Amino acid sequence: MPHTIAVIGGGPAGLRAAEVLAEAGYAVTLFDHKPTVGRKFLLAGRGGLNLTHSEPAAEFLKKYGAAQSLMARALALFSPEELRAWCHDLGIETFVGSSGRVYPRDMKATSLLRAWLKKLNRLGVTFALRHAWTGWNGDALSFQTADGEMVAFKPDATLIALGGASWPHLGSDGHWTGIFRAHNIPLAPLRPANCGFVVQWSDVFRQRRAGEPLKPVTLTFAGRSQRGEIMITQNGVEGSLIYAFGAALRDEIEARGKAVITLDLRSDLTKGELTTRLSRPRGSQSLANHLRKAGGLSPLAASLLREGARDLPPNASRLAERIKAMPLTLVATGPIERAISTAGGVCLNALTEDLMLKNKPGVFVAGEMLDWEAPTGGYLLQGCFSTASLAARGIGKWLISQSITVENI
Ligand SMILES: Cc1cc2nc3c(=O)[nH]c(=O)nc-3n(C[C@H](O)[C@H](O)[C@H](O)COP(=O)(O)OP(=O)(O)OC[C@H]3O[C@@H](n4cnc5c(N)ncnc54)[C@H](O)[C@@H]3O)c2cc1C
Repeated sequence: MPHTIAVIGGGPAGLRAAEVLAEAGYAVTLFDHKPTVGRKFLLAGRGGLNLTHSEPAAEFLKKYGAAQSLMARALALFSPEELRAWCHDLGIETFVGSSGRVYPRDMKATSLLRAWLKKLNRLGVTFALRHAWTGWNGDALSFQTADGEMVAFKPDATLIALGGASWPHLGSDGHWTGIFRAHNIPLAPLRPANCGFVVQWSDVFRQRRAGEPLKPVTLTFAGRSQRGEIMITQNGVEGSLIYAFGAALRDEIEARGKAVITLDLRSDLTKGELTTRLSRPRGSQSLANHLRKAGGLSPLAASLLREGARDLPPNASRLAERIKAMPLTLVATGPIERAISTAGGVCLNALTEDLMLKNKPGVFVAGEMLDWEAPTGGYLLQGCFSTASLAARGIGKWLISQSITVENI
């Protein structure tokens, strides 16, 4: 009889772990409290499904900040190249975009998820949906079914992959933190990551400009600069350039109540070149027109500049200085419910190298519920796939160490 494994959570981490474990010959049951799995994965597909990134391994690893040593182990087991090969095996071609990001050819999650679930069914994974995990009862796992019934399941090993706390209506609602806390499992508080930030826009600016992309723009914060695109929202700013600085901005706001970023609205010109252009006679033109025609600013950049400082310097050189270093104050992070991902979670020092909870032998954790974060760019999904592969292999090693005869993973 194969040994039984419970995988709790049907996001990319849980599905990947179920796949690795079923391929190794275990009897895997995957529990999820929603009627279908992969809901956040499908949502990610609406934005193009950035699966991973093609940059060199050393650069890739740096994106995980303090969690680099965990991710080095995880990526060694399931690398970005292996993720692409895995997609191809499922019949899904991938391509590298101009930014180095990797996407499925159709830029959607539906066909990939469909092919993946077919494979899991073929491998014999049992799906127990509408089963909400409510904790442990002795050695057994407890689940509440949709009709309120309590069900107990006592597997040989468990892998938990319940995600963070963003977009809770899709399934990952962070309620597991209460269960973990009750079992003295060390947790770092869940915080929004890759989230929007609040700016106190004037009503006029908000009404006219929300929904417009500011591009190209160079953002500088804490001595680091990067060029990209910022989306103006009703309440502030979001987008990949903001997310790239997200952790540092969030920490600054937590420490000081605000974060002041600097925007270069004409990063393709030097200050001298811009000054020369702005020194052209303005004639009867309004300042807004002069900024657009002589300064080459987009209508959005021109109104952002005026939003930042109602009294712009009249002198061309000082005006150029302001355009090249416009301060913008962020006063709060956006809500975690709307964040792309979640920072915080199960502390890495609560886990063995194989992602088993030190105080719960036989229980492994993977995916976004671990305490790591990364910017957008494919690092999130890759991190979930790779930590799931690491934890699944860890289960195999642990069962062997318990002298249970199993096929090797
Ligand atoms: C709008 C958006 C776009 C994104 N785009 C990208 C992208 O392009 N590239 C990228 O790398 N990342 C992207 N992400 C992030 C990525 O989707 C997540 O990092 C990833 O889904 C996390 O995987 P996970 O398996 O750890 O958790 P989740 O996908 O959150 O899955 C957790 C599962 O656990 C289940 N669950 C929770 N609690 C219980 C319980 N008590 N009992 C039973 N089941 C439970 C949930 O129903 C869910 O199915 C995006 C996220 C969002 C919100």
